[in-house]
Amino acid sequence: MTMDEMKALCDTHILNTYGPRKLAFVRGEGARLWDADGREYLDFFAGIAVVNLGHCHPAVTDALCEQARKLVHVSNLYYIEPQIELAALLAKHSFAQRWFFCNCGATANEAAIKLARRYWWRKGQYKPSIITMDHSFHGRTLAAITATAQPKYQEGFQPLVPGFMYAPYDDLETLESIITPDVGAIMLEAVQGEGGVRVPSQGYLQAVRELCDKRNLLLILDEVQTGFGRTGKLFAHEHAGIAPDIMTVAKALGNGVPIGALGCTEEVSSGFSPGMHASTFGGNPLCTVAALATVKTLTTPGFLDDVAEKGSYFIHSLKALVKKHADIAQVRGVGMMIGVELTRDVAPIVARMLESGVICGPAGPRVIRFVPPLIVTKEQINRAAESLDAALGEA
Ligand SMILES: *Cc1c(COP(=O)(O)O)cnc(C)c1O
Repeated sequence: MTMDEMKALCDTHILNTYGPRKLAFVRGEGARLWDADGREYLDFFAGIAVVNLGHCHPAVTDALCEQARKLVHVSNLYYIEPQIELAALLAKHSFAQRWFFCNCGATANEAAIKLARRYWWRKGQYKPSIITMDHSFHGRTLAAITATAQPKYQEGFQPLVPGFMYAPYDDLETLESIITPDVGAIMLEAVQGEGGVRVPSQGYLQAVRELCDKRNLLLILDEVQTGFGRTGKLFAHEHAGIAPDIMTVAKALGNGVPIGALGCTEEVSSGFSPGMHASTFGGNPLCTVAALATVKTLTTPGFLDDVAEKGSYFIHSLKALVKKHADIAQVRGVGMMIGVELTRDVAPIVARMLESGVICGPAGPRVIRFVPPLIVTKEQINRAAESLDAALGEA
């Protein structure tokens, strides 16, 4: 299909939830993508923080090909060996002893909301309410947009799911002040992604953990975007030296193969009993072999140290541009999750960078988000920083 043919068919048959697009990629390798004309792009968005190992990583591709010839899908009415192996591997590398597999971030958060409510219900306590944060993002199902405290994602979908309250992010005092006896959980991102790459103050996550302990609340961390090495640790909460009670993950778990998961402590897992929650595709053989290969690669000794080191290098390169460009308000981030806040609309800058062959994306109207594959080289980081420099210079 030519671009014009694709556009015409898309305009006729695809629901208009994404608006018009300019490009179609046909091939990827590492941090590089190619369009149908053979033009090469440097990918610093990674399909929105998904292909952390880079496009078509051989370990994942080999695992998929091999499994696709053996067995693609069976239901959870049977043991699924790679799923069990994946859960054990995730347990080895996290606080979470028990895992539930689903298909994406939103369904992981649905599971977390249901688990938190059931946990208190089974204890005979009425604590169904959940506090989430302003500028958060938790996905697009009805409960997830209710948890997502951004009016633009909720407009027109009311009535929303009852039992949600909102607090400002990185503001412990207000958070504590709104807790009522029916609150059972606090749910937040370790670093807010979609809402503008907001990194909380040092000590904030620890303080929220302490607050949850003091007020007998579950701490749910949405690590859908921050998970799997994005911030230079396997999970972002490791930077704070704390653990939640429930964690949700998705995006990078399968390096592009759709899979989400909820991990929790043994204690909290008692909220669910057989029949209380399920997913047809969740944890099937194909997606779990991809996730196994991904997590094994990410946890190879030295891999994450390298991510942290390159992330600092990248932030440093971007901070060097602040002096030169008055329209950069702030550079912030952790590891390879980096936001450049501008004093103006970022869309034209993102478009110019794309023209120069560098893919990045927005996080809200004023923040350029860089979430490259974690395998990018310093040379590629230099190219991305140069592209931003040039795009801002053209203004
Ligand atoms: C992307 C994202 C989600 C939603 O994930 P989907 O796979 O699109 O459902 C949830 N939470 C966070 C923090 C995300 O970044």
